[in-house]
Amino acid sequence: MHLTNKTAIVTGSTSGIGLGTAKALAAHGANIVLNGFGDAALIEQLKKEVTEAGAPKVMHVGADMRKQSEINDMVAKAEQEFGSVDILVNNAGIQFVSELEKFPKDKWDDIIAINLTAPFHLTKAVLPGMQKRKWGRIVNIASVQGLIGSINKSAYVASKHGIIGLTKVTALENATRGITCNAVCPGYVLTPLVQKQLDDRAKEKGLTPEQAVESLLGEKQPMMQFVRVENIANMVAYMCSPAADRMTGASVPVDGGWTAQ
Ligand code: NAD
Repeated sequence: MHLTNKTAIVTGSTSGIGLGTAKALAAHGANIVLNGFGDAALIEQLKKEVTEAGAPKVMHVGADMRKQSEINDMVAKAEQEFGSVDILVNNAGIQFVSELEKFPKDKWDDIIAINLTAPFHLTKAVLPGMQKRKWGRIVNIASVQGLIGSINKSAYVASKHGIIGLTKVTALENATRGITCNAVCPGYVLTPLVQKQLDDRAKEKGLTPEQAVESLLGEKQPMMQFVRVENIANMVAYMCSPAADRMTGASVPVDGGWTAQ
């Protein structure tokens, strides 16, 4: 329970990796600020699940990560209700797949806004409180696509390379202030974000769902299995733990061997 009396904001935590991460931090005793889209019934259900996972206090703020004012309001609300923001997990992210010459500008703008600019605004908003308390943990959910490139993912790859740069600068500027900043770089995890890529691949190539999985993993992920949400969530919890208190500026792949090739 090393996160007792700490509060964590996890962006994009109504689904996938973010939800798993919120539960993992809750299991170590942190209060949780959930964020992300979903109807009222889903939000109530998720608040219950995160409370059952161990969070003393849970709230949801539906801030749109494309909007700076909503981002700042979320941080202010968290500080007001829970007293502080000690942990920030920049997780919300979207994907769009297209050749560069056909890539729609509005998709580029949204991907850069959610995957890269929102973490900048959030980091800026939480740092003063962390510096005052001399303790903070910032974890950015990047991707293997922050370390290497893949065709047809120009905006996503640019945003994920960008967030690894932001991770390093945040780490260096705060190295003597009790604040660490690290990035996790997942390979393929079977969440709605990847399910869409599987569905598109099956349709495009006339594959069964099983063949689409084999084709997707076969191209990139030597273990031939999806990374589990828990693999990422537990890495985030480790980065927030005393065991990792000398680790900062790192970008750690959890990718079934993808970037070993
Ligand atoms: P997901 O689609 O399951 O969840 C995305 C979450 O972000 C949802 O809660 C959604 O409501 C929220 N979100 C989307 N747009 C938002 C906005 N404008 N404002 C606020 N919230 C918004 O996705 P996931 O697969 O769990 O991905 C989470 C993170 O992990 C992303 O940054 C993604 O790039 C990264 N990642 C995922 C994989 C993978 O294989 N799934 C691999 C590498 C990295």
